[in-house]
Amino acid sequence: MTITLERIATQDTLPDSTSVVIIGGGIVGVSAALALAERNIPVVVIEKGHLGGEQSSRNLGWIRKTSRHVDDVPLALAADRLWAQMPERIGSDVGYKQSGIMFLSQTDEQLAMHEGWLKSVESLDLGSTLLSQKDIDQHVPGGQGQWKGGLYTPTDGKAEPSIAVPAMAKAAMAKGAVFVQNCAVRTLQTSAGRISGVVTEKGEILCDQVLLTGGAWSRRFLGNHGISLPTLPLVCSVLRTKPMDGPTDIAVGGPDFSFRKHQDGGYIITQRGKLDAPVTLDHLLIGSKYLDQLRTQRSFLKISFGCTFFKDIALGRHWKSDSVSPFEKVRVNNPDVNHGLNQDALNNLSNAWPVFEKAEIEEAWAGIIDVTPDSNPVIDRIAEIPGLTVATGFSGHGFGTGPAAGQLAADLVSNESPIIDPSPYRFSRF
Ligand SMILES: Cc1cc2nc3c(=O)[nH]c(=O)nc-3n(C[C@H](O)[C@H](O)[C@H](O)COP(=O)(O)OP(=O)(O)OC[C@H]3O[C@@H](n4cnc5c(N)ncnc54)[C@H](O)[C@@H]3O)c2cc1C
Repeated sequence: MTITLERIATQDTLPDSTSVVIIGGGIVGVSAALALAERNIPVVVIEKGHLGGEQSSRNLGWIRKTSRHVDDVPLALAADRLWAQMPERIGSDVGYKQSGIMFLSQTDEQLAMHEGWLKSVESLDLGSTLLSQKDIDQHVPGGQGQWKGGLYTPTDGKAEPSIAVPAMAKAAMAKGAVFVQNCAVRTLQTSAGRISGVVTEKGEILCDQVLLTGGAWSRRFLGNHGISLPTLPLVCSVLRTKPMDGPTDIAVGGPDFSFRKHQDGGYIITQRGKLDAPVTLDHLLIGSKYLDQLRTQRSFLKISFGCTFFKDIALGRHWKSDSVSPFEKVRVNNPDVNHGLNQDALNNLSNAWPVFEKAEIEEAWAGIIDVTPDSNPVIDRIAEIPGLTVATGFSGHGFGTGPAAGQLAADLVSNESPIIDPSPYRFSRF
């Protein structure tokens, strides 16, 4: 099964030159292109596969402040405002709704974690509250689960990944941005020590600035230029049910399931307590930077060693501008779905809310998450290569902040005052 995503037509040929080249047409690259086009800055987005084809169409569509690191909340608040304005800004629906997000705690440890988070953000006035079992039963009726408590933020929300990126790209195009799909950027070009262009599989484009928004590919791209961005891949499997009568519009995250209502009336469900971690060479090279995360989150990972390791090696780590790059070899990263984990999620959810026993699976997919050692992205200029900015490493929660992250990246590229203080996202912290 594959993922439903609106495909849009873009131009086939590259212009000779532009001001800004954006590498990668996910939510972050497309949001940056929209912001730059609105400032009348010439911009070309180059996507190796199709727009939104990787993480940005495979995510759950949650737009949350809840459980974010306190330093990441200003970006999420800025994104809330941008999502709310998006339909008017782009003249099109993106499925945005402020329908609330709730996390459930089954153990005292989980409850303490939720209480700790609430305390960490108490000065920010997010409207988040702790819930009792009775509150949970009222918000999400028909449940049989026994919960120590819950954490609820009514101003959190959702948008539809299957339509958001294409709709935003169409609007950016109407405002002058150029998009080219099925075209991998192989290398950066520099002249007199700064960015002067990029070489793609379809030829070169001259430009003054490059913004890299390559998702899980950014580490490999930068590595070829001698820059080590620490991100490791994890695989998350997801399913969507056919339209059904469910218990709530609120997106709910339990310890071993999560669900949120899709715009068509179905539910998007995942096993929130497990992610596949097929070992790659990068796990061996930079795994030591993740020891703190591993200590606290080892139980979340299904670590395996197998063909992913060898496929990853075969892709190569160094290439020249005149040779086929890894990005052309994998147009769209479409990892195998772990149907076992999806079934677990559905079983666990049905035990908690029996109405899901009637759920019928409409589609299933998996996506790769690019995780940094502190689970926050890098949105920064790269000092080693003047003219290069990156916005990447969103660690499994960059769809919600995408519009603001793209705008922040556009601010850095165009020397505008930044939408929020960018210091939590500086590259030098690694
Ligand atoms: C299963 C799953 C569930 C998730 N759930 C949520 C959620 O509920 N809420 C949330 O906020 N976040 C969620 N996320 C995370 C979120 O989807 C990502 O953080 C976000 O989409 C990242 O956007 P991006 O633009 O950085 O990357 P991507 O969407 O991956 O886009 C990067 C693009 O760059 C292209 N590219 C890379 N290298 C090159 C090159 N050299 N040349 C040309 N093109 C290139 C790729 O083809 C790709 O299309 C989830 C992720 C997954 C996988």
